Amino acid sequence: MSDRVALVTGASRGIGRAVATALMKSGYRVAVGYKTNEELACEIITEHHTGIPIQIDVSSLQSVDTAIHAIESQLGPIDTLVNNAGISQVKPFLEISDSEWEHMLSVNLLGAVRCARRVIPGMVDRSFGRIVNISSIGGQWGGLYQVHYAAAKAGLINFTKSLAKIYSGNGICCNCVAPGLIQTDMIAVELNEKKSNEITKDIPVGRLGTPEEVASTVVYLCSEQSSYISGQTINVNGGTYLLG
Ligand code: NAP
Repeated sequence: MSDRVALVTGASRGIGRAVATALMKSGYRVAVGYKTNEELACEIITEHHTGIPIQIDVSSLQSVDTAIHAIESQLGPIDTLVNNAGISQVKPFLEISDSEWEHMLSVNLLGAVRCARRVIPGMVDRSFGRIVNISSIGGQWGGLYQVHYAAAKAGLINFTKSLAKIYSGNGICCNCVAPGLIQTDMIAVELNEKKSNEITKDIPVGRLGTPEEVASTVVYLCSEQSSYISGQTINVNGGTYLLG
């Protein structure tokens, strides 16, 4: 069990919610980040009698600063950062506008940069930190109709490697988790449009993943047991893509 303080961005729903829940079960005091769904964030806290809800829009530097300041005053210094908040958009490449590119990169790549930049100095002072960035299989093999999403997620993998090179010597392990298709709101449209066997035919395990299956890997990477793993991308994809 850990009594460390964790921030999970985008924890009101889906994978982030499962990560926040799993960290709470492991004893962490968790700041449950939400952008719009405060009620959903509060639900987890009520259920587990621990943690605080925190509004954090990772596309805004001011929101990130305000949120992290509030967490530090209420829970103490952040040891563990899970950059999970993310958006997706399905659109042909030539139809994606500049502002859509900018917003995608701002949430899915710069959001992690903003949060990391804010917590790393404290982690360096305390010689301990865990940063887990939630990338995607799309960031590894590209995306046909989500080129901006895939580019942002690929950037996150490289950002993770750079942080690991700079800060692993300070006790800060920084890793990525790259999920395949996970059953959440984010892929609801895809699930509605395609037959389930069409979606799962290329997944060796033969089914979609669950948010909890991603969460258990994230919790391991946040733990003291993962102290010699840094700069890696761990695939949680049912065997769909076999490279790191
Ligand atoms: P989801 O169910 O759509 O949930 C998205 C979460 O992100 C929500 O909690 C939402 O908050 C939050 N969010 C959205 N925009 C935000 C912003 N600007 N600032 C802060 N939070 C924001 O998504 P998910 O499927 O759980 O995905 C979680 C992460 O896993 C994402 O980074 C996604 O790219 C990645 N991923 C997902 C899959 C998949 O198949 N589902 C596969 C690979 C990677 P509110 O609800 O409060 O607005």
